[in-house]
Amino acid sequence: MGLETYQEKRDFTRTPEPKGKLSRANRSRFVVQEHHASKLHFDFRLEMAGVLKSWSVPKGPSLDPAEKRFAAPTEDHPVEYLKFEGHIPAGNYGAGAHMIWDEGTYELLSDADPLAQLAEGKLAFKLKGKKLRGGFNLVRMSGRAEQWLLIKSRDAHAMPGWQLKLRMDTDDQSRAWRNNLASGKGQQMAARTPAARTAREHSSRKISAPAVGEPAVAASRVFKQQALQGDLNVKIGANSVALTNLNKVYWPDDGYTKGELIKYYYEVGKYILPYLKDRPLIMKRYPNGISGPSFHQHDVNEAPSFVRTATLAVEEGHTVDYIIGDNLATLLYMANLGAIERHPWHSRVGALDHPDWLVFDLDPGKGVEFTTICALAVSVRDLLAGVGLDSYAKTSGSRGIHVYVPIKPIYTYEQIAEFAAQVATLVARAQPEVATVERALKQRRRGQIYVDHMQNARGKSVVAPYSVRPRTGAPVSAPLKWREVERARINVQDFTIKNMTRRLSAHGDLFKPVLTRRQKVDQAMAEIARMFAERKTTERA
Ligand code: MN
Repeated sequence: MGLETYQEKRDFTRTPEPKGKLSRANRSRFVVQEHHASKLHFDFRLEMAGVLKSWSVPKGPSLDPAEKRFAAPTEDHPVEYLKFEGHIPAGNYGAGAHMIWDEGTYELLSDADPLAQLAEGKLAFKLKGKKLRGGFNLVRMSGRAEQWLLIKSRDAHAMPGWQLKLRMDTDDQSRAWRNNLASGKGQQMAARTPAARTAREHSSRKISAPAVGEPAVAASRVFKQQALQGDLNVKIGANSVALTNLNKVYWPDDGYTKGELIKYYYEVGKYILPYLKDRPLIMKRYPNGISGPSFHQHDVNEAPSFVRTATLAVEEGHTVDYIIGDNLATLLYMANLGAIERHPWHSRVGALDHPDWLVFDLDPGKGVEFTTICALAVSVRDLLAGVGLDSYAKTSGSRGIHVYVPIKPIYTYEQIAEFAAQVATLVARAQPEVATVERALKQRRRGQIYVDHMQNARGKSVVAPYSVRPRTGAPVSAPLKWREVERARINVQDFTIKNMTRRLSAHGDLFKPVLTRRQKVDQAMAEIARMFAERKTTERA
């Protein structure tokens, strides 16, 4: 009882959450909070005995009495938390967006001491909220102290078949995550100030590779094995990389293991590394595979000596040590941390303010055929070709297509972002049924493809070519020939960690021009700006 646990878990200089204190009044309030932490869940809280008794409900409450929702008790929260909404910055306990999903008051159905009822493992109450109304029951499952069920009573407020609606779409959340990442510590605006721009490189605290007991074995020998097992020290050049838990299953539907992920990155190393070289990498870790929890790691302050890092000032007094994608050992080290994807910046150390490619992410809504996405990619290519620019396509590895334009690193992110926005807008205006530049998911029409140009900013990223995606089938982002896009007989799921090397030996690196054919875009910018202005004039007329 009390707030010690709550307060111990948090650093109130770094989280906007209230420190709070025990309250003497009891106004019988309740709140349900939607919490986009590493795993989305809902927090159900009842004001009781000076605190908020709290349960974490993974699927959230339901108005359907047939839906028994698991609820795990969590530490008592201060009553101040009833009103808390905000973004808990990365690195803090419960990092992520936190918002009120429903609130109101409650009434116990029994006169017995509420704490005694809780100790008994059964609490019946009536909720008077905006969404939740009528009788509810919290019931402890027998023999499992930490596991409760939250169940709607069968009364006039029960709604069989009721579906919970999120306040915040999870797609928006993943974008918010990426944006948040861009600034390192959750201070989104701070990263854009001039003071924040001064990036300097240094070698951060280095530790030697953790030994796992075995002497290092040559990588060429290790990766010939059919299945990688247990823990291994692998020798790559002069470096030794510790690989652990290799038989842990990372893709439960496919049975693919962490060892298979690492082996894939070893095999495609020479193809993917040129796209990571000299670029800060954003890391999202899935230590227990794609269906387990994941978290973003900004700061790598304890990396082995072969891992190059760059300390980037993200705001006054705050720096983040980013991994720089440089060598095969680093690529495998990251895979061993459970980092499935490779997310490089659009610019390189030495010229971090000047992107050397720009990207359009064609992100389909529900039910869009892949052939439609292919056709839209071709129109993006044609519009760009019309202003003299070559572009290159790859599957996202998820559902859409990425179109890249390699550029000389002599323009600012602001210039490139504006250019990309105008191109995307022209594409969307030409085919309003098919394409949109509307960021808010709710404003998009069903069947539209979102032409996402918003990733062309400092610190943002798109998955690298050949990057694996944390999705069923272990798909990878695969460079395409424009002929393949035109024919549209392919699909995103066609390219996986199991067949990419075969495609690479047949076609080589189809994306190579993205590194070698860097284009000046002054002319194209002028022409697109003119088309954009013309369009506006006609619309006004
Ligand atoms: Mn929570």
